[in-house]
Amino acid sequence: MNLILLGPPGAGKGTQARILVEGRGMVQLSTGDMLREARTSGTEMGKRVAAVMDRGDLVTDEIVIGLIREKLTTGTAPGGYIFDGFPRTLAQADALGALLEELGQSLDAVIEMRVDDEALVARITARSTCGDCGEVYNDLTKPWPADGRCANCGGTNQTRRADDNADSLRTRLMAYYKQTSPLIGYYHAKGDLHSVDGLGEIDAVAAAIEDLLDG
Ligand code: AMP
Repeated sequence: MNLILLGPPGAGKGTQARILVEGRGMVQLSTGDMLREARTSGTEMGKRVAAVMDRGDLVTDEIVIGLIREKLTTGTAPGGYIFDGFPRTLAQADALGALLEELGQSLDAVIEMRVDDEALVARITARSTCGDCGEVYNDLTKPWPADGRCANCGGTNQTRRADDNADSLRTRLMAYYKQTSPLIGYYHAKGDLHSVDGLGEIDAVAAAIEDLLDG
């Protein structure tokens, strides 16, 4: 089972992907995480994409398709892949289709997570993550524990993303509507699209996704 989680920044794609990894033994492929990793480790590519990411624009199709190609051709995922934050353009969607076909695999579902813009701003400005294990927190609904230790791994490295600010978010939302939202029509036409209400509680959204996958 290979699936795409599609939705604007802050829709909860990363949170739901982590739940699917835990529950179904799937492998999460987040191009955002891969690019942040490249920046942290200071690779040439990481340096090239840093300013683009901080602004909230999309990095080139060539770079992200290259990252996904490498993961798919070198790794294995018996439980299937969750594509999180990829594809984000029609060219990326075409490339993913071709790549899966080349590897004798298929795309089983595309899940659109619907959330309105006001909720996105509130979620993103309140978001932090554990720098050690990636657990996602929200200052209002799931605050970082008072003892200063991540509830999942005990780490003390609470981090906020450089692009989780109002200016970058405006650019990221515009990029979503202009470049990524056409994928909703694209996958609808292919018959792969399902939608869930991403505004609910984390567990309720997870249950809706489970129902879709098992249904
Ligand atoms: P994310 O963690 O998915 O919100 O991604 C953070 C940033 O990484 C985005 O704002 C883009 O600058 C870049 N990025 C991540 N995935 C992609 C992609 N599939 N195509 C282009 N840029 C991407």
